[in-house]
Amino acid sequence: MATPVSTSTRNIPLGGPESVVDSACPLDCPDACSLAVTVRHGKLVKIDGSEKNPTTAGYICNKVRGFGDRIYGPDRLLHPGVRKGRKGEGRFERASWEEAIELIAQRMEGAKAEFGGESILPYSYGGSNGLLTQDNFDATLWRRFGTSRLARTLCAAPTGAANMALYGKMPSVVYSDYPHARLIILWGVNPSASGIHLIPYVREAQKNGATLIVIDPRSTALARSADLHLAVKPGTDVAVALAFHRYLFANGHVNAEFLAQHTKNADKLRARAEEWTIDKAAELAGIDPALLERAIKLYADASPALIRCGWGLERNRNGGNAAMAILSLPAVGGKFGVRGGGYSMSNSASWDIEKPWIGAPEAATRIVNMNHLGRTLLDATDPPVKVLFVYNCNPAATVPDQHRVTRGLEREDLFTVVFDQVMTDTALYADVILPNTTFLEGYDFAKAYGPLNIDLGRPAIDVVGESRSNADVFGELCSRLGVLQEDEPTGELDLLVRVLDSLPGTIGDDLRNDRRPIPAFGEAPIQFVDVFPKTQDRKVDLFPETLEYSTPLGLYRFQPDPATKEYPLTLISPASDRTISSTLGELSRTDVKLLMNPDDAAARHLANNDLVRIFNALGEVHCAVNVLPTIRPGTVSLPKGLWRRSTRNGVTGTALVPDTLTDIGSGACFNDARVQVAALPVA
Ligand code: SF4
Repeated sequence: MATPVSTSTRNIPLGGPESVVDSACPLDCPDACSLAVTVRHGKLVKIDGSEKNPTTAGYICNKVRGFGDRIYGPDRLLHPGVRKGRKGEGRFERASWEEAIELIAQRMEGAKAEFGGESILPYSYGGSNGLLTQDNFDATLWRRFGTSRLARTLCAAPTGAANMALYGKMPSVVYSDYPHARLIILWGVNPSASGIHLIPYVREAQKNGATLIVIDPRSTALARSADLHLAVKPGTDVAVALAFHRYLFANGHVNAEFLAQHTKNADKLRARAEEWTIDKAAELAGIDPALLERAIKLYADASPALIRCGWGLERNRNGGNAAMAILSLPAVGGKFGVRGGGYSMSNSASWDIEKPWIGAPEAATRIVNMNHLGRTLLDATDPPVKVLFVYNCNPAATVPDQHRVTRGLEREDLFTVVFDQVMTDTALYADVILPNTTFLEGYDFAKAYGPLNIDLGRPAIDVVGESRSNADVFGELCSRLGVLQEDEPTGELDLLVRVLDSLPGTIGDDLRNDRRPIPAFGEAPIQFVDVFPKTQDRKVDLFPETLEYSTPLGLYRFQPDPATKEYPLTLISPASDRTISSTLGELSRTDVKLLMNPDDAAARHLANNDLVRIFNALGEVHCAVNVLPTIRPGTVSLPKGLWRRSTRNGVTGTALVPDTLTDIGSGACFNDARVQVAALPVA
């Protein structure tokens, strides 16, 4: 086969003592950086940002700068293994790839013969977000074998559903247009931790005189530099956004012509916003009504005005309605049609990539919501889950109701496969572990969901141990299980060619020839000038009927706070500067601390660095406390993506999170954990 792209060849030491290889970061981060990877004799020396992508601009985050610690670290899986201890102990006997694949194939065939294909549950998320590591041969295998399907709803499901219902996921404002805005609202997002390449553009906008408003229960670095910071109580964003709407409608700040031409059902949204006076919303959100009024008036008067809608606001029972109310603001306020105006949300759907390389249609089998992993493993009977295949994720650390998940993983009659790069918390419970290549050991496509950037990751270093790529392993399983059709390819290089050939427009050609692909509508589209809603009638539906009926209390409604007298504190788990979701969580993290406001600490007689127990009816976490005024009273915070080794008792924040679902999109309600905190008694 002809070489698909000009690049170094894997497992051959790169020419000369030191070379720099172009690659790209496919991890679950909006930026998808282009990378310059320095390699010596097949081993990684340094990873840095490449200048070839203007958004990356030659720098990257410290997380990926230190990625070598994962690649060559003590937790790296080097060869397949078969369990020899108790589940959870993490003791494995070395096996060959042939033995491991055969064992997995036999267990899958056995489960299918006895309980049906739906007794097999594939379980994956965005641990390695590239086009070659998910939704290719794996999807072909699951579809043709008739396994259960997984609703990937851990993150972005509510905001994604809202964006789809309102705008059909219209491309949104890109980073480079932020400096054109006169006002920016960062709502439920902290780019200093997730998406650092947005920061210089926000700073440039501020230098140009833009007003910055940050809406976040924490006083982040950006919040401290903002003109206004609304430290709203988690879960109340929907009420705050509806107060914006009420003011816009009531005070002549709507663009009637735009509403008539480009939207429908504005009157129904207006009716639902009517009860949310500034005073009522501010009281619910626990903020000063004068501050809220100022924020609303600034937004009403500014143009171009831009809202960056993050994911922090969706992780609660009202998350879908919050996203609906926030994302509809630019339509009601007439903020579209100018550079730097409108909204910015995930741009993941902007390239219109349909994935025709998945060689089979979706099977009509059972759908399991990934947030219900614990209860599905423990309670499903029709059929029970007998084989669980986990890849690109670490549910023992990341999924709500951690104890229920681990009780499920402990089932002796469950056969669990974990295919990962390192010994994750979930891999400890596996019956078979399979070592996976990292993005520097194979090809992949990095597709940004902030800027409009797509890049090709190339193998830069020698494969570590016996690791194999997703495409190679799932291709082999397809072959062993007899689900391939004649002449279908099975390897990573075949898949690479197939994907390059199937990408829309000139993307494949551009990537082959080291050109940066640009979408047909341009790399910095203006909403309602260059791009329009992708809804059927190209209108913004401000009150989609289907959501009105499928949402517990209806659209734009508020479900009350689940706090009780026993568990009055809201526990949130925002992204940190140490992990990408839970990726890299294996690296030493002895300093994890609960962030708590001094008022809450004083009420509990706690001092900085005291050891505490954070608890509710679902579990208990032990760690030190960091007492700082950078979080609002009544809310406490642990970092997202912690592994169980990060705390004193091997339990993390997800153990305190109920597996209830958001109002729209059936997402995880991480921020609906209500807890109490007390000093940890001295042993
Ligand atoms: S995680 Fe994000 S910021 Fe870091 S290298 Fe990857 S794309 Fe860039």
